[in-house]
Amino acid sequence: MRQLYSCRVALADRYDGFLIDLDGVVWLGHELIEGAADALGALKDAGKPFVFVTNSPRVTPAEQARILRNQGVDADESRVVTAGSTLLAMAADELGGGARVLATGTPGFLEQVADAGFEVLSLDRWEEAAGVLVSGHPRFNYDELKATSMAVRSGAFFAVTGKDPTMPMPDGLWPGTGSILAAIETASGRQAIIAGKPEKPIFEAGLRVLDLPSDAKVAMIGDRLDTDVGGARKAGLEGILVTGNDSVPPGTDITPDHEIPSLAALVS
Ligand SMILES: [Mg+2]
Repeated sequence: MRQLYSCRVALADRYDGFLIDLDGVVWLGHELIEGAADALGALKDAGKPFVFVTNSPRVTPAEQARILRNQGVDADESRVVTAGSTLLAMAADELGGGARVLATGTPGFLEQVADAGFEVLSLDRWEEAAGVLVSGHPRFNYDELKATSMAVRSGAFFAVTGKDPTMPMPDGLWPGTGSILAAIETASGRQAIIAGKPEKPIFEAGLRVLDLPSDAKVAMIGDRLDTDVGGARKAGLEGILVTGNDSVPPGTDITPDHEIPSLAALVS
């Protein structure tokens, strides 16, 4: 990879725009990674548009943009696409605004569902649900499983933010949204549409915000081979892997188009 580093000035110049993962690329636990703010500023100065694309559905795009701005990154919520915002856009396309839905997720996710104009039903009204919108949360219980799976079995639109089976926590791997989804899928006999990486919808949502000509060359920059690079491939984009922190998972058979130690190496 040494050759790539030596010509890294050219790396950003090889693309017309970027989709950029947040966790592990721009920040770790909402703390900016060294050099990230300068690199983003340099991209902006060079006229290279970029959109932040994150699987995290718990925090709203507005809040993510606010956290970035507080640390010196010029970020607008319209340039942050999350698995949650992608899911809600898909549901609005499918059901229309104001549809009645069952939603399961953190208070932050439920707030986004309501803010998007959906009527969030109580569990006992599952028969009225046109859609079932799923995101993980730590108090998921049998009543939610019962209501969501019965609504899905009755034909409700069924979509989920992502299907990561686990999430890394200080004491080990906790069950993630994918584990909760598996329960609903098993009980309902149907499979959900997935909004987040590595599936296409979130990449397509990011590209819509980038709004570049269809022949523009766009790269996804992320720290995970499976979700970021693998997902980019599925969406027809190139994938740049950031290797410079400890969150890179064990290798898969996916090969990135480029590897860089940090976002700074894209532009410095
Ligand atoms: Mg990441």
